[in-house]
Formats: sequence, structure tokens, C-alpha cells
Amino acid sequence: MPIKNRLAEMHEEITGWRRDIHRHPEILYDTHRTSALVAERLKEFGCDEVVTGIGRTGVVGVIRGKTDTQGRVIGLRADMDALPMQEQTGLDYASETAGAMHACGHDGHTAMVLGAAKYLSETRNFDGTAIVIFQPAEEGGNGAEAMCKDGLMDRFGIQEVYAMHNVPGLATGQFAIRSGPLLAAADEFDLYVEGRGGHAAKPQETVDTTVMLSQLIVALQTIVSRNADPTLQAVLSVTSVETSSKAFNVIPQSARVRGTVRTHSNDMRDLIEQRLKEVCAGIAETFGGTVNVTYTRGVPVTINAEEQTGYAAEAAISVGGSCDEAPMVMGGEDFSFMLEERPGAFIILGNGDSAGLHHPEYNFNDEIIPMGCSWFAEMVERRMPAA
Ligand SMILES: [Zn+2]
Ligand SMILES: [Zn+2]
Repeated sequence: MPIKNRLAEMHEEITGWRRDIHRHPEILYDTHRTSALVAERLKEFGCDEVVTGIGRTGVVGVIRGKTDTQGRVIGLRADMDALPMQEQTGLDYASETAGAMHACGHDGHTAMVLGAAKYLSETRNFDGTAIVIFQPAEEGGNGAEAMCKDGLMDRFGIQEVYAMHNVPGLATGQFAIRSGPLLAAADEFDLYVEGRGGHAAKPQETVDTTVMLSQLIVALQTIVSRNADPTLQAVLSVTSVETSSKAFNVIPQSARVRGTVRTHSNDMRDLIEQRLKEVCAGIAETFGGTVNVTYTRGVPVTINAEEQTGYAAEAAISVGGSCDEAPMVMGGEDFSFMLEERPGAFIILGNGDSAGLHHPEYNFNDEIIPMGCSWFAEMVERRMPAA
């Protein structure tokens, strides 16, 4: 079955919702207007239940099929939040909020799951329950984790969960997916390096913090190049260095070194964290200073379950005619928290030749709406075929 006719008919209406959300971007958990709009639409569609306030501003809609003989429950997830950046698209529906912009296409994701919800509420041509999930704070706020902590999966009995992200540079409407790790775990480290400051002309009386941190940065590069299995992908990047002195003749007392670690497996993640701490302790010992490590784990690896990836690809082929093998990427995605709780899959959908995600000229491509909506609806109808 290609694009669902009813969803093709609704293209203009769904585009209208998308552009309205685009005009009013909201950041992190402050998706009050968007959440209210989503809840209002879901009620209009005749969802059996609409629940707000899950994971602070998250919204959930429950749509029961014509029958429920097996107790099947499938979750479809969208993200609603925007980014703290200034839009430069010049669109007539550009952001009306200074310093906030839908530059990741979450406006499109929300509109597409709303479209699927409207279609599923009208047709109910499935045996079981569809749960539509709208989360806040995907961009660095772990909104998916907040919803899970509020009992999302158990409360609604969700058995499998699916989500989608648009990708610029992939042909308009082209689907792609891979089984196993797709997106990376994204962690941060913050190192407080302390020596003994003093006169730059009397280094013998100091423990030179700048020499220590220089050695440290070089030594950190050996973790990925020498400790990690070269067939497994990992990145460690030092992104910021600041010392306590701005003078040319003062050896600083202390410094801060910050950076990020991206990995595609939990073992690799553990290894890098452990080696980072050992390298810091070793350098401190060698130079006679101290290095205090704060290692903060961000989103986990996004791991697509094998079986569910197969179902997602079949639905994509049915809707779009084909589904490519997606490459692994080093970006992170907080849908990974939901995939830690339930098997499921994250699929990508080509946004065509647009500016990249998080770019001030990026815009979600409304042409892909019928494809995205149809895929979500198809997931429900295929995984819970009408009795
Ligand atoms: Zn993003
Ligand atoms: Zn995103």
C-alpha cells in the first residue's frame, strides 16, 4: 500500500499545523503552547484518552482499534521542542519568537504524528491500541527519559515504540534505517586541572598547569587511537580550554578542559570513561598536580531492535517503495531512552536538498508529510492487523 489516500487529502491541513508550530517555537520543557495545541487536536480527533503533563509538558493520546483481541499496544513518538537560535529563513511563517527556531524539524515530526493520529482515529482499522507520544526537551533536556520516568511505558502498556527523524541531504521522501546502533551515546567531560601557579620566569618554583594540560590533551587522544577497538567507532574531542591566567608572564594556578565522547556501544562507553579517568590520574601523578574529572553521561546509544527494524523497513517499502541502509552517525537522540525500555526502531526520512539540521536556514520539507504520516499509520496497521 503506497501513501494512504486519506492522508494525501489531509496534506494541506497537516502542513497548516506544521507551519503554525513553526511560527511559535518553544524550547526544552517550555512547550506549553505546542502541548496545548497537540492535546486540543487529539481531543478533536476523538482520541479515547488524552493525557497531559507526562514528563512535565509531554502529551499522550490513546486510540483504540475496532477490536482488541490480543491486547497489543504500539507507541508512536514525536518530539515538540525547538532550538535556542535565531532563524534566518525569511519564510512568511518564520519564527515569531526571537532566539528560538524549529531548526531540527520537530515541528514536522509533531505534525506528522498528529496526522497519523487523525487518520487512525477516523479509521481504527487495527486490532489493539495505538499510543501517540509527544515529548518535550529532545534537544539536550532528555524529555524522553522524563516521560519514561513518569511511567509512560507501563501506564499505557506500550509493547513496542517507533519514531522518525527527517534528514537533510537524503532524497525527499526516501526512507533509511539500520538494525543495531544508529545514533551515538553523547557524553561530556569537564576536567579541573590544578598545578601551582607562579612567575613565568621561575618555572622551577611552580607546577606548570599549561604544560600539564597540554600533555593531558595529547594523552587523551590515545584512548580512541590506542585503547579502543579500531573496528568500532568512537570519538573523543576536546572542545574548550581555559586557564586562570590571561597574562603572558604568569603560570596559571588552574585550568578547565572540556569535551565530548561519542560511542556506539555500552562497552565502548564504559572503556572510554574508565581510560579517561586513568589518563587524568596518570598525568596528574607525573607532573605533581591534580586533575578532577566530572564525567556526565548524556543520551544512551540509539539501538534499533532487529525484529522491529525489519517491520519498520517493510512499512517504509510499502509506503515509499524502498528503504535504504542508513549509515551510523555520531549525533545523539534521546528516543534512545525509550528504546532502552521497549523494543522498537528509529527510522530516517529524507528532507531533500535543504540546509542541514541546526542551521539557521534549515526548514522542514512539507512535501514529505504524507510519507511520514503514512509510515506511522502503516506501522500500527501492520503490527496490529485488523481482526
Ligand atoms: Zn536536533
Ligand atoms: Zn531532532
